[in-house]
Amino acid sequence: MRFNRGRRYTYYSSYSNSRRSRVRWDRVGIIAGIVIVILALAIWLNFDRLQLLVKGYSFSQQNIILSLEDEAVDEVLSHDKLDHIQDWIEGEGTYFLYDDYEKYLSTHKDLKIEEVLVTVNDIMTNYKPRFDALTYTEDQLWKVLDVASIDDLKYLINHEYTYPQIEPYMNIQGFAIQDIDRYIEIYNEKKNYNYAVLATAYPFIISENDNGEIYTIQNPENVVTLVKKGFQYANNYVPDDLVTPAEIPISPDCENAQMRKEAAEALTEMYNDAKKEGYTLIINSAYRSYKEQEEVYKEIHERYDEVTAASLVANPGASEHQSGLGIDLTSQSVLDDKRNGISSRFGDKPEYKWCLANSYKYGYILRFEEDKANITGIGNEPWHFRYVGKDVAKEIFQNGWTLEEYCLYNGVIPKVKKNG
Ligand code: ZN
Repeated sequence: MRFNRGRRYTYYSSYSNSRRSRVRWDRVGIIAGIVIVILALAIWLNFDRLQLLVKGYSFSQQNIILSLEDEAVDEVLSHDKLDHIQDWIEGEGTYFLYDDYEKYLSTHKDLKIEEVLVTVNDIMTNYKPRFDALTYTEDQLWKVLDVASIDDLKYLINHEYTYPQIEPYMNIQGFAIQDIDRYIEIYNEKKNYNYAVLATAYPFIISENDNGEIYTIQNPENVVTLVKKGFQYANNYVPDDLVTPAEIPISPDCENAQMRKEAAEALTEMYNDAKKEGYTLIINSAYRSYKEQEEVYKEIHERYDEVTAASLVANPGASEHQSGLGIDLTSQSVLDDKRNGISSRFGDKPEYKWCLANSYKYGYILRFEEDKANITGIGNEPWHFRYVGKDVAKEIFQNGWTLEEYCLYNGVIPKVKKNG
């Protein structure tokens, strides 16, 4: 063994010694060559150029940057690659603002290069010192610049709004800087940031403030969607899960008893529990298409004056019946009265009182209450219930809210696109 190992050692060492010395001299030659080339390049290129190369600047960009004064080159080197560096240099921008031009352009992509240069120069010279005085940090100022016009900046400065004063409103749908006075006014009354922004941006949510604006709902399938004049369905929206609740009786006048599946199941549960108490609920009207609503709308508007008609029937697209979540109820007792030639109303019946006290447990709310018509825009409709899901219905019931108030306080409004 020892002999073998010794032999092997001797053999390998003498073999590799001769090979290794040959290879090593070759490699030293190559490495020395490379080092000489790199040194030569480094001297020729200089260290700044190497750094620019590493940051990803092209050869022509490097040339333009290296033609600047040393401080400007250092400034460029202190940032990640500025994609539009050539524009900022050729547009005679201020070198310590190169990074700001780039940042501003990234959130104002529709601006021309020249406009970016002029605007950022203006902001940094004339406005930034004022914001510094109002204790805005760099980061906070940029959050404002992302959404603000020059007029907005003037507004903030003139009103001396600090960042903590405006920050709670900034991420709410419909936020606009020059409405902050109004937000604060509403906030002082309602103590709620969502309410302040939404009631300002979409005043028609409170129907008495209707301003004629109309938005089309982009997420119509959401069961909490607020639909009313102003927030409306597209004329081709049809829920894709309509079913007819099999167990619940349907009134002879009802043409379509279809509802969204979730709402139909909840109503069936409600129907069965009411039945146990001796109350028989009946479906009087459920899903109505845009076209059907249009027909009802025309008919009512031919019969009544504008104001009365508007309180009686929703605009096409603005009806909860198109959602498959709104339901008009009646009761066996009302139908029995009718058969006996007696005129009676669901709203006067114990079935209604049971629904009023219990529907929230099944996810339903009474949608149009008599004393809330200024908010909902619809007169007293004791028969019309709306499915919103159990949690939301409970919160609305416990607070004595309308759906509008729930949406305003919780910042829950549809995703919308303005018409026209
Ligand atoms: Zn109805």
